[in-house]
Amino acid sequence: MKTIRITGGMLYDGLGNPGLEKDILLKDGKICAIGAGAEVEADLVINATGKVVCPGFVDIHRHCDAKPLNDPNFGRTELLQGITTTVAGNCGISITPCPTDGVAAREMYDFDEPVLGPIALDGPRSYRDYLAALNKTMLPMNFAAMIGTGAVKITVKGFSDTPYTQQELDTARNLIEDAMQAGAPGVSLGIMYLPECYSSTDEFAYILEPVGRYGGVITTHIRGEGDSMVDSVREVIEIAKKAGCALEISHFKSCGVKNWRRDIHTAIDLIEKARAEGQDVTCDFYPYEGGSTALTTMLPPVFVAGDMTVALQRLGTPEGVEEFRRTSRALYDNWDNFCITLGWDRIIISGVILPEHRKMLGMTVTDAAEKFGYEDAVALAADLMHTENGKTAIINMSMCQDDIDAVAKLPYSIVISDAIYADTDTPHPRMFGAFPKVIREYVMERGLYTLEDAIRRMTSLPAARMRLQGRGSLQVGNWADVLVFDPQVFRDNATFTDPAKLATGLEYCIVNGEVEVENGLRTTVNAGMCLCAKK
Ligand SMILES: [Zn+2]
Repeated sequence: MKTIRITGGMLYDGLGNPGLEKDILLKDGKICAIGAGAEVEADLVINATGKVVCPGFVDIHRHCDAKPLNDPNFGRTELLQGITTTVAGNCGISITPCPTDGVAAREMYDFDEPVLGPIALDGPRSYRDYLAALNKTMLPMNFAAMIGTGAVKITVKGFSDTPYTQQELDTARNLIEDAMQAGAPGVSLGIMYLPECYSSTDEFAYILEPVGRYGGVITTHIRGEGDSMVDSVREVIEIAKKAGCALEISHFKSCGVKNWRRDIHTAIDLIEKARAEGQDVTCDFYPYEGGSTALTTMLPPVFVAGDMTVALQRLGTPEGVEEFRRTSRALYDNWDNFCITLGWDRIIISGVILPEHRKMLGMTVTDAAEKFGYEDAVALAADLMHTENGKTAIINMSMCQDDIDAVAKLPYSIVISDAIYADTDTPHPRMFGAFPKVIREYVMERGLYTLEDAIRRMTSLPAARMRLQGRGSLQVGNWADVLVFDPQVFRDNATFTDPAKLATGLEYCIVNGEVEVENGLRTTVNAGMCLCAKK
């Protein structure tokens, strides 16, 4: 392992302190000197004059669980935007624990695939086996993983909508205890998703008890992010309080036009109150106004009636289209109807299967329906879902920038990507650009953050949240995860209509003292480590 000296750069320590012009010396994977003592001979000298030198970015919310095990190219997208550490196992979704039975495992993997991408059936079944597999793999960046309460519930009782029995509660709690003991930094919840949506506050509090005992955190995809968002935040604060653990509210946002500029402030008040009472509550956000999902999420559950295949067939008949039109115009207690709360003019067609539909890419459903002679947006949406068998992808412009900024300005909010690894050529741009976008837009263009504050929210804050020792700040003795870039040049290039664009302009990305990106190009050193260690 060689020594690296980075000379002449503006050093941002990641802790929120302003930049200082100092040299830094990296040796044996660690930071061995900063300033005085760093000016010595080195195998590689990087001239960073006029550049920023800062800790590598820590993305605590990527759905890359399966990637290190099945994709030899994993890492390029991440390293080029400066991510040197990532945490998987978010939103209740993780590849372990997993049913031992092959059929049941396949069912869980199919369910996970739109978020995690394809998973091999012969993969690990327990969290300990998963860690063992990670430890045997060449990792492009440092990697930690939580387990999800969705995976736990599927492992214990499949997709059943009945409550846990007492015995099942104990089995679930034991799985969580085992993962915490094996080194998980925390446990994620995906209360919006099947089958967790059937679980009560008390069920969660019971099974999550070991998390607090091990000093871990729960990260939560809350029950509803639209009309029920405030109640959903209240619920996870209560779960964390009862379970006795720290709480991270994942991708904290308010969806639905009529809720904008209002609900997020009510929810922030709840968080502030809990913090004032001594609860450890923080949140995170991704810097985009839209979410990405399947067009079929616009179908009201009463229309689908539990059978998506039949529902997609019915959309090919005039009666089916009419029924979709009628059910899409109603409001529902237990389902956010984006057809109304957002409207079709905020739904962008972002991924199609059939070549004749490519002309609609990047257009709203409303505009495309008008331009291409459909009766209305519903008729076009029905036609797309029917002819493409439900595989049409959309971006819903469900958030407003004022709300995102309100969350972004909270002193304890963390930047995440929420990158999803489904096999598609039209992913959400956050996969490729979330971190450089914050530098380009939030710091350089809009001045919402100082550079040191933005860097803090992408380095020391997330590292501390996941208790990643020796990461997230430039201090002597810490691991040498270091970036060098010119903030005028380093940028995201991915947009909603042209999303699969890599970030550019990162000069150096160093992981554990090894150069993973040099002058914007990926090397293939793979010096990452699995960061989950036995407690
Ligand atoms: Zn989520």
